[in-house]
Amino acid sequence: EEIDGGVASLVAQMIETMYAAPGVGLAANQVGVSRRLFVYDAGDGPITVINPRLVESEGEFTYTEACLSVPGHAWDITRPDRVHVIGLDLDGNELSLEASEFEGRIFQHELDHLDGILLVERLDDDQRREARAMLRREFTSAPVDPDGLASLLER
Ligand code: ZN
Repeated sequence: EEIDGGVASLVAQMIETMYAAPGVGLAANQVGVSRRLFVYDAGDGPITVINPRLVESEGEFTYTEACLSVPGHAWDITRPDRVHVIGLDLDGNELSLEASEFEGRIFQHELDHLDGILLVERLDDDQRREARAMLRREFTSAPVDPDGLASLLER
Protein backbone atom coordinates (compact mmCIF):
# COMPACT_ATOMS: atom_id res chain seq x y z
CA GLU A 1 0.00 0.00 0.00
CA GLU A 2 2.86 2.31 0.74
CA ILE A 3 5.42 2.82 -2.03
CA ASP A 4 8.49 3.72 0.00
CA GLY A 5 12.24 3.60 -0.55
CA GLY A 6 12.21 -0.11 0.25
CA VAL A 7 9.98 -0.76 -2.74
CA ALA A 8 12.16 1.42 -4.96
CA SER A 9 15.34 -0.45 -4.06
CA LEU A 10 13.57 -3.82 -4.41
CA VAL A 11 12.46 -2.79 -7.90
CA ALA A 12 15.99 -1.65 -8.84
CA GLN A 13 17.37 -5.04 -7.76
CA MET A 14 14.63 -6.91 -9.59
CA ILE A 15 15.31 -5.04 -12.83
CA GLU A 16 19.01 -5.84 -12.51
CA THR A 17 18.22 -9.52 -11.84
CA MET A 18 15.81 -9.64 -14.79
CA TYR A 19 18.40 -8.28 -17.24
CA ALA A 20 21.19 -10.46 -15.83
CA ALA A 21 19.13 -13.64 -16.23
CA PRO A 22 18.35 -12.57 -19.02
CA GLY A 23 14.58 -12.37 -18.90
CA VAL A 24 11.72 -10.10 -19.98
CA GLY A 25 9.78 -10.13 -16.73
CA LEU A 26 10.19 -10.86 -13.04
CA ALA A 27 7.69 -11.09 -10.20
CA ALA A 28 8.66 -10.14 -6.64
CA ASN A 29 7.89 -13.58 -5.24
CA GLN A 30 10.39 -15.09 -7.70
CA VAL A 31 13.10 -13.36 -5.67
CA GLY A 32 11.50 -14.41 -2.39
CA VAL A 33 9.64 -11.18 -1.63
CA SER A 34 5.92 -11.49 -0.85
CA ARG A 35 4.82 -8.26 -2.48
CA ARG A 36 2.39 -7.90 -5.33
CA LEU A 37 4.52 -6.28 -8.02
CA PHE A 38 6.37 -7.21 -11.16
CA VAL A 39 8.88 -5.63 -13.54
CA TYR A 40 9.09 -6.23 -17.26
CA ASP A 41 10.69 -5.00 -20.45
CA ALA A 42 8.90 -5.76 -23.70
CA GLY A 43 11.53 -3.82 -25.66
CA ASP A 44 10.85 -0.24 -24.57
CA GLY A 45 12.75 -0.19 -21.30
CA PRO A 46 11.89 -1.41 -17.81
CA ILE A 47 8.38 -0.87 -16.43
CA THR A 48 7.20 -1.55 -12.89
CA VAL A 49 3.63 -2.55 -12.11
CA ILE A 50 2.58 -2.44 -8.46
CA ASN A 51 -0.60 -4.16 -7.24
CA PRO A 52 -1.39 -5.34 -10.79
CA ARG A 53 -4.89 -6.57 -11.55
CA LEU A 54 -6.20 -8.17 -14.72
CA VAL A 55 -9.49 -6.47 -15.59
CA GLU A 56 -10.15 -7.79 -19.07
CA SER A 57 -8.87 -10.44 -21.46
CA GLU A 58 -9.97 -11.64 -24.86
CA GLY A 59 -8.94 -13.69 -27.87
CA GLU A 60 -6.48 -16.53 -28.01
CA PHE A 61 -2.74 -16.61 -28.67
CA THR A 62 -0.23 -19.45 -28.64
CA TYR A 63 3.31 -18.56 -27.69
CA THR A 64 6.43 -20.50 -26.73
CA GLU A 65 6.73 -19.54 -23.09
CA ALA A 66 9.71 -19.96 -20.79
CA CYS A 67 10.28 -19.09 -17.14
CA LEU A 68 13.32 -18.07 -15.12
CA SER A 69 12.03 -20.36 -12.37
CA VAL A 70 12.11 -23.36 -14.74
CA PRO A 71 15.44 -22.73 -16.46
CA GLY A 72 16.21 -24.31 -19.79
CA HIS A 73 12.65 -25.24 -20.77
CA ALA A 74 9.96 -23.72 -22.98
CA TRP A 75 6.47 -24.83 -23.95
CA ASP A 76 3.80 -23.69 -26.40
CA ILE A 77 1.05 -22.28 -24.20
CA THR A 78 -2.30 -20.92 -25.36
CA ARG A 79 -3.75 -18.06 -23.33
CA PRO A 80 -5.93 -15.03 -24.04
CA ASP A 81 -4.30 -12.62 -26.50
CA ARG A 82 -5.35 -9.12 -25.48
CA VAL A 83 -5.33 -8.15 -21.83
CA HIS A 84 -6.02 -5.02 -19.83
CA VAL A 85 -4.04 -4.69 -16.62
CA ILE A 86 -4.33 -1.89 -14.08
CA GLY A 87 -1.97 -1.06 -11.24
CA LEU A 88 0.33 1.65 -9.94
CA ASP A 89 3.76 2.83 -11.03
CA LEU A 90 6.65 3.55 -8.66
CA ASP A 91 5.37 7.10 -8.10
CA GLY A 92 1.93 5.84 -7.12
CA ASN A 93 0.32 6.95 -10.36
CA GLU A 94 -2.41 4.76 -11.80
CA LEU A 95 -1.34 2.59 -14.70
CA SER A 96 -3.72 1.27 -17.32
CA LEU A 97 -1.93 -1.08 -19.69
CA GLU A 98 -3.48 -2.78 -22.68
CA ALA A 99 -1.34 -5.27 -24.53
CA SER A 100 -1.51 -8.25 -26.82
CA GLU A 101 0.76 -10.96 -28.18
CA PHE A 102 4.25 -10.87 -26.58
CA GLU A 103 3.60 -8.06 -24.10
CA GLY A 104 0.17 -9.42 -23.17
CA ARG A 105 1.82 -12.76 -22.51
CA ILE A 106 4.37 -11.23 -20.15
CA PHE A 107 1.56 -9.67 -18.09
CA GLN A 108 -0.31 -12.97 -17.79
CA HIS A 109 2.85 -14.91 -16.94
CA GLU A 110 3.88 -12.47 -14.19
CA LEU A 111 0.33 -12.25 -12.80
CA ASP A 112 0.37 -16.05 -12.57
CA HIS A 113 3.56 -15.87 -10.49
CA LEU A 114 1.94 -13.37 -8.12
CA ASP A 115 -1.07 -15.68 -7.82
CA GLY A 116 1.22 -18.63 -7.04
CA ILE A 117 0.79 -20.35 -10.40
CA LEU A 118 3.93 -21.64 -12.12
CA LEU A 119 4.23 -22.22 -15.86
CA VAL A 120 4.28 -26.01 -15.48
CA GLU A 121 0.71 -25.80 -14.14
CA ARG A 122 -0.41 -24.34 -17.50
CA LEU A 123 0.76 -27.37 -19.50
CA ASP A 124 -1.67 -29.69 -21.22
CA ASP A 125 -1.64 -33.42 -20.41
CA ASP A 126 0.92 -34.39 -23.08
CA GLN A 127 3.28 -31.51 -22.21
CA ARG A 128 2.90 -32.37 -18.53
CA ARG A 129 3.84 -36.00 -19.14
CA GLU A 130 6.95 -34.99 -21.10
CA ALA A 131 7.92 -32.34 -18.54
CA ARG A 132 7.56 -34.82 -15.70
CA ALA A 133 9.91 -37.28 -17.41
CA MET A 134 12.35 -34.49 -18.26
CA LEU A 135 12.42 -33.08 -14.72
CA ARG A 136 12.79 -36.57 -13.21
CA ARG A 137 15.88 -37.09 -15.35
CA GLU A 138 17.28 -33.76 -14.21
CA PHE A 139 16.55 -34.39 -10.56
CA THR A 140 18.27 -37.77 -10.52
CA SER A 141 21.53 -35.85 -10.79
CA ALA A 142 20.46 -33.19 -8.26
CA PRO A 143 19.92 -33.98 -4.58
CA VAL A 144 16.93 -31.67 -4.11
CA ASP A 145 14.09 -30.08 -6.03
CA PRO A 146 14.18 -26.63 -4.40
CA ASP A 147 11.16 -25.21 -6.18
CA GLY A 148 9.04 -28.32 -5.81
CA LEU A 149 8.54 -28.49 -9.57
CA ALA A 150 8.18 -32.25 -9.59
CA SER A 151 5.34 -32.11 -7.07
CA LEU A 152 3.55 -29.40 -9.07
CA LEU A 153 3.60 -31.70 -12.07
CA GLU A 154 2.04 -34.53 -10.07
CA ARG A 155 -1.12 -32.50 -9.51
ZN1 ZN B 1 8.19 -17.11 -14.83
